[in-house]
Order: sequence, then structure tokens, then C-alpha cells
Amino acid sequence: MVKVVASTFSALLLTISAVMAQINVADYPTINEVPPVTSAQVQAWLKEVDLSGAPNIPVLTAPKGSPPACVVPAVANSCVWTCDNCPSDDITSCAVPNTWGLTFDDGPSTATPTLLDFLKTNKLSASFFLIGSNVIQYPDTVKREVTEGHHLASHTWSHTALTTLTNVQIVAEMKWTEKAVMAATGLRLKYMRPPYGDINNRVRYVLKQLGYTPVDWTGDAFDTNDWRIGSSGFTEAQAVSVFSKSLDTYVNSTKASGFYCLEHDVSATTVSAALKLIPQGISRKINFANVATCQSDASPYQSGSNTIATTTSGSSTASSTKTSGGTATSTSSTGSGSSGNNTSSGPKVVSAAGSQVASIGVVSAIAAAAAALLA
Ligand SMILES: [Zn+2]
Repeated sequence: MVKVVASTFSALLLTISAVMAQINVADYPTINEVPPVTSAQVQAWLKEVDLSGAPNIPVLTAPKGSPPACVVPAVANSCVWTCDNCPSDDITSCAVPNTWGLTFDDGPSTATPTLLDFLKTNKLSASFFLIGSNVIQYPDTVKREVTEGHHLASHTWSHTALTTLTNVQIVAEMKWTEKAVMAATGLRLKYMRPPYGDINNRVRYVLKQLGYTPVDWTGDAFDTNDWRIGSSGFTEAQAVSVFSKSLDTYVNSTKASGFYCLEHDVSATTVSAALKLIPQGISRKINFANVATCQSDASPYQSGSNTIATTTSGSSTASSTKTSGGTATSTSSTGSGSSGNNTSSGPKVVSAAGSQVASIGVVSAIAAAAAALLA
């Protein structure tokens, strides 16, 4: 089994290395700007998508780097998640009980490798909601995320509030990011998170036409506020304290559903916070999983190699890799004492606190089911 896994791992690396060569920054739009819709590439994409049924909801305005103000009274049929408390059919919670759906937004950045080291040590798998502008700057980090068993998703090209963009601009934001990640990894993204959580029914329609499923976070209590650290006297210790109270409330609930947090791998500050926040979940015996595992989605990409990796709080892991041709090439399901992140060896299985922890069944069972589906 170890040889099979190692062989598959090598094949995956070779495949990714081959497609890596296709990244050429000059082929992409200006970073952190809404891509022009007049380019031949965007015009070609627009021919592939039918926007004729988009609801007639006005395009809002906002300063660059901010979401728009809430419209009061609410626009009929708009269903803005952050303003109207209206998630429509967005995913807003992890379907696995007692589970922290681990998500990081706004990367990759120079801080991401530190987070990846921590996740690897603790045998945790996350979903990374990537900004396309950053993907073309740090493609090797995106490649590393895949090879270490994480799940990739979209966070648009320029991180502009989507309700302030036209339908065709939304297409450009999503497709350029999709192209960049495809070039880096061979994976065509399927899940996305709207910047600022800013989404309404018009945005949802366009996303759906492009094959994307929005994943919000589980409300204000699960915003870690890592983005506020360093401003207005708000400290990392305060963020950890506030979030710990949310975790206590969750632990004392029925925990029938898991939750998704708002966290970021955008800077050393937010990554430092993550390294303090995650142990708060581990010490409360909350399991961890990426979006693919939370939603029991054995095909968490629109196309390309499917990688499912799941871990609990450092105790039990399973991963499975499927090639783009649809043939399962390996399945690894491991308990304590070995690694499950697509590698044949790894660090000892210990919790962040350094103590050996028992196998946690539910996430492992789902991972095994996912592996069975792939096999
Ligand atoms: Zn963001």
C-alpha cells in the first residue's frame, strides 16, 4: 500500500509539474482589478454561458475594497445573505456533526506555507478559497495545497464585492480564477465563497450557470475576526477569546451540524491567529474537515483529478486520489501512527497539544465512504 501511495503521489506531482509550465502571468489580467470584459478570452467564455434568465436586480456601488451598504428596504427577490439574512441555497454549515469545516480565504500569500506546515503537523485538511490574482503569483503554493491533501475553491479574481459587478464581470472574475487554478493544478473549481459574503440572487444565478456552489460561513458567531486584528486596538488574544466563547456555545449545543468559519491565510497576522484558534477546537474535541468532506462530495471539482482528504483533530486520516481519466489510483486510510495526506510518511500523529488522541469515527467513516466511491 505504501508503494502504491508513493507511486500515485509521484504521478500526481509529475502531472502538476507538467501543467505548472502553463502559468504565464502575462497571459492574465491585471492583478487585483476587475478583468475587462471586452477581451477575446472573456468574449469566448460568454459564448459558453447563458445569462438570459438572470434576475433583474440592480448592480450596486461601493468603494474599492468594501462591500456595498445594505439597501433598505430590501430589493424584492434580491435575497442578500449579509443584509437580509437570506442564504437561499448557499451552503452555510458543514453537514457533519461536531465538525469545524476548515476554510481559509484570500490566499495564497507568503504566509500560507506557515499555515500549511501547521496543518501538516496536525494532520488537518482545509479548503482554500483562492483569489485568482494571488494564484498566478504563488502557483507553487497552490500546487503544494493539492499535494498535501487540501481542497481548492474560488474567491474570485480581484476580491471585488460581486453585487457591485455586472453579470459579465462576474463571469470574468470566476473564469479567470478558474483558468489560473487549472493552469497550476489541472483542477477546475466547483465551490466558491463570495468576497465579504456579498451575494444576492443575481450573483447566485450567474454562479450557477458557471457550475459554482457558494459556501458562506455559519453566521457572525463563526467569524473569527482575524481580519480585524491590529486595527482599532483589536488584538489576537481578543480574537481568540471571543471565538473560544463561540466554540463553548457550540460544544454545549446539540452539535447536529458542523460549522464553517471565516478565516484567512492572507497575512502573517491572520495565520498566527489560525495557529492559536485551531487548538481551541482540538482541545474541545471538535473534528475538522474540508468542504468536500463536510458535504460528502466525492467529486469536489468540476473536472480534473479529485482529491479527497479528511482529517480529524490529529487522530485519524484518510485520503483518496482519482485521476482525471476516472480511474482510482490509490486509497489510503490510516489510523494513528501514519500520514494520510497523500504521502507515504509523515509526522507522528499527535494533537497540537502534543498528546496522542483516539481515533474519531464519524469523519473517518465518511472518508472511507468517499474513498469507496472513488475506488
Ligand atoms: Zn475574502
